[in-house]
Amino acid sequence: MSSKTFYLETFGCQMNVHDSEKVVGTLLQEGYRQVETVEQADLVLYNTCSIRDKAEQKVFNRLSDYKKYKKQGKTFGVLGCVAQQEGEKIFERAPYVSLVAGSASYHKLPQMLKQLENAQLENAQLEKVRIESAILEAGNSPTRKPETENLVRITGLDDRETDKCFETEFTARTNPHRGYITIIEGCDKFCSYCVVPYTRGKERSRTSQSVLAEARQMADLGYTEIQLLGQNVNSYKDSEGNPSRRKTFAELLAAVGEVPGIRRVRFTTSHPRDFGRDIVDAIDAVPTLCDHVHLPVQSGSTRMLDAMQRLYTRDQYLERIAWMKSAKREISITTDMIVGFPGETESDFAETLSLLDEVGYDAVFAFKYSPRPNTPSIKLEDAIPDQEKARRLDVLMSRQREVQITRYKKYIGTKCEVMVEGRNETRAQWIGRTTHNKTLNFVIPPTTNQTADPGAHATANPKAGSYVPVVVTGSFPNSLLGELVV
Ligand code: SAM
Ligand code: SF4
Repeated sequence: MSSKTFYLETFGCQMNVHDSEKVVGTLLQEGYRQVETVEQADLVLYNTCSIRDKAEQKVFNRLSDYKKYKKQGKTFGVLGCVAQQEGEKIFERAPYVSLVAGSASYHKLPQMLKQLENAQLENAQLEKVRIESAILEAGNSPTRKPETENLVRITGLDDRETDKCFETEFTARTNPHRGYITIIEGCDKFCSYCVVPYTRGKERSRTSQSVLAEARQMADLGYTEIQLLGQNVNSYKDSEGNPSRRKTFAELLAAVGEVPGIRRVRFTTSHPRDFGRDIVDAIDAVPTLCDHVHLPVQSGSTRMLDAMQRLYTRDQYLERIAWMKSAKREISITTDMIVGFPGETESDFAETLSLLDEVGYDAVFAFKYSPRPNTPSIKLEDAIPDQEKARRLDVLMSRQREVQITRYKKYIGTKCEVMVEGRNETRAQWIGRTTHNKTLNFVIPPTTNQTADPGAHATANPKAGSYVPVVVTGSFPNSLLGELVV
């Protein structure tokens, strides 16, 4: 068993979750062993998020604990967006951190780990020599060195110039049935409120060949669901060497959907400006592409969209919604919204509210605007007080709840195929997910249920990762309830 242990905690979005799977795979390959707690670890890593102030604060709260851990000889590393954003300033705020690396540098992670290990070894040897010579010279114990002296500091802070993607064959996926594949990293959109272009570097796409090879490899391993990831998957540009084999995003999506063994393909996130009709055509043509599109709008007011530098108007956004509504299958639409952007008037906000009814979203992820370092909108005047942002968020979420109640009710009586995700023992229900990305919890009807006839129908229990038909019997604002069809 390896003696080098690490603990990794992840904050933030799916991109971070998947980056962590790749970081874990890399560390395992470098001879480290993953442990469950900070206490058990030699190397403690935080993969951080800085999209909103609250997310950023979380990592500094964690790091405030480490004086006590440092005494136990642990090494700390900050990865991800806070690392890239704060850079070497992290060493000032948290002097015991030894590694600071943004996601654009992960391709150099094996080298950084070696540098870290070598520097620590060298330090330990120097310290040994220092102690031995002090004892020899003075005949007594050497004075204690300040705790921050000789700290190892390794940085991976590639700026926006990197062309490299973090590709590794050692991804340690946490779910054996569905998994992520990054197709594009970074972002060139520069929405005025957003840190991502500064923290994740410039847009760079993988080749379609490499993405498809990974999809086939996952299918061979038994994966049936794949989610293509990127901050803006719609601006995917195939970097495949042979121009005749280059694929658009819609073509790549369709090709992943046609990989034998793959039953469901999802993608996130889309940007309305780059969202083409060909994506809806692909969904129409390839049955494995899921009936769900997450299309962040941010605001229903064209004036606010302009201030946010989103590069589309409300009408253009609604045009994309119309494409989806005219698809052969019913596509479930979800979105992100920001309330309280500087200068947002009551009438701008009312336009956002009216969009909820007009589109009929199945889920809305809404956030209070959080001013972020380096972004153009931090300089905007006319800030909305936090209390007012909170009020608008409340109003928006209550209105959306009503929309969802109506939308989810419509499923009652319909039959849906779900992928089984597990079991909720407390509620004695199975947890499933529909192609629309809705949670559909279900029970097994009494005739085949084990409890009705213990032992006799043990095989009736659905396995995690299997696909089963479920008839919807009830609805809630965020989930459905059903019964397995036997
Ligand atoms: N690339 C995606 C897009 O264009 O929508 C998502 C990026 S971000 C990780 C996810 C969401 O966080 C955004 O859609 C936006 O609603 C929200 N967000 C980003 N910056 C924010 C900020 N400064 N304050 C509040 N919410 C923010
Ligand atoms: Fe941020 Fe805009 Fe890029 Fe999304 S598209 S990551 S919101 S800059």
